[in-house]
Amino acid sequence: MAALPEIKLLPSQLVNQIAAGEIVERPASVLKELLENSIDAGASQITVELENGGMRRVSVRDDGHGMDKQSLALALSRHATSKIRSQEDLVNVTTMGFRGEALPSMASVSRFTVTSRARGAEHAWQLSVDGRGHAGQPEPSAHPVGTTVEMADLFFNTPARRKFLRTENTEFQHLERRFREQALAHPAIGFRLFHNGRAVHNLNVAHSEVEQLRRIGEVLGKEFIAQNMRIDVEVGDMRLHGWISRPAYSRSQRDQQYFYVNHRFVRDKLIMHAISQAYRDVLHHQRQPAFVLFLDLPPSRVDVNVHPGKHEVRFREDRQIHGFVSQTLKRSLSDTRPGGEVDNGLMSHPDQAEPGQGVTAFNYTPQPFQHNVPLQVREQIQSLDALYSPQDKADATPAAVDHPLGYAIAQLHGIYILAQNQRGMIVVDMHAAHERISYERMKAALDKD
Ligand code: ADP
Ligand code: MG
Repeated sequence: MAALPEIKLLPSQLVNQIAAGEIVERPASVLKELLENSIDAGASQITVELENGGMRRVSVRDDGHGMDKQSLALALSRHATSKIRSQEDLVNVTTMGFRGEALPSMASVSRFTVTSRARGAEHAWQLSVDGRGHAGQPEPSAHPVGTTVEMADLFFNTPARRKFLRTENTEFQHLERRFREQALAHPAIGFRLFHNGRAVHNLNVAHSEVEQLRRIGEVLGKEFIAQNMRIDVEVGDMRLHGWISRPAYSRSQRDQQYFYVNHRFVRDKLIMHAISQAYRDVLHHQRQPAFVLFLDLPPSRVDVNVHPGKHEVRFREDRQIHGFVSQTLKRSLSDTRPGGEVDNGLMSHPDQAEPGQGVTAFNYTPQPFQHNVPLQVREQIQSLDALYSPQDKADATPAAVDHPLGYAIAQLHGIYILAQNQRGMIVVDMHAAHERISYERMKAALDKD
């Protein structure tokens, strides 16, 4: 008879290396975790130094709240976190980190050193982890308030994984992408990036929306700045804001797509689908839009604990989120004028903008009030009726089917039409309606030939 397999607890070094398998894929994943920790520590300045595509060294220095001697030792043990205490905290988590496994995981597959000085402490402490995963004793060290984490020789003790690393250039591209993701989402933090001693990015703190846009230009390029629209729409407890490309600007790849849920960068199929649906009518299907978009909603409505890498989320009401994102963007895009002229109050040349100048989403100038509803308005209402799809008419009463938008009763500020139908009142944006009618006509004409 064969002996029963014996069950044994794994040594902690191995447990950490298994976790590292999910968290640490390449130097860029280390950078992501370290940046998140610095952001969570309330840093206002973060400096990243990389060597050899991060394979030789990734170092992140911040001026955040730092750690005292005791926290330093704890931070490197598994599932030690200062960010959550209970299941309830997890549901409402607002920090980037919460799993307490990044530092020990990274320390188990590299040569790892943390130096930190807590606010109010007389000096800093430094702790290194050797190749077998043993942390030494914290040693007194010199460091301003804040933390520097240094990861060297990634995968030096796991040669099988080291083989999966690519060229210095490829690894650097991944690192830069992670850097951009954080820099775009945290304008109140200054970011610097050095590679092999060379300064690659130097992003100053952005105080105003104009400065934030300037940072986006520095990160994504001036073209995007000249061809973008500001989005800021709030519905209930959800808000979608940021910048999206006008149809005149598109890319062959998805390389300029940045979406954040509660300021956490995510790759989410549902969101991507909602966005491409919004662009479907205005962009060739092989072209990709560019965007930097933030979806803010109560943390309890989104589950961020789906993957150890924390780049996936699950929404509690995913259909509602999909509709909100898709409709908001679609509406904004239907307001764009052909020709791509910037007309939404955003400066196309942010360099010429006054510092601190506010940026608004719309700059309609109200016209004097008009009492009479001009004939043209009635025509527009009828044309709009024609746009209504059969599915929209399905549940309408027969009278409403004739004129689902009802009858125009007033024109407001020369911008809106107030109409009345069987179900109530409707406000139509004349400018948007006119655009839509011309656009649908053009589409119909194109379909004919
Ligand atoms: P998590 O971020 O999920 O809490 P980590 O392993 O990334 O887990 O970090 C463990 C703990 O170490 C954090 O909860 C935090 O208290 C502390 N820590 C890590 N990095 C920093 C930093 N840059 N500044 C201050 N504290 C830090
Ligand atoms: Mg963390």
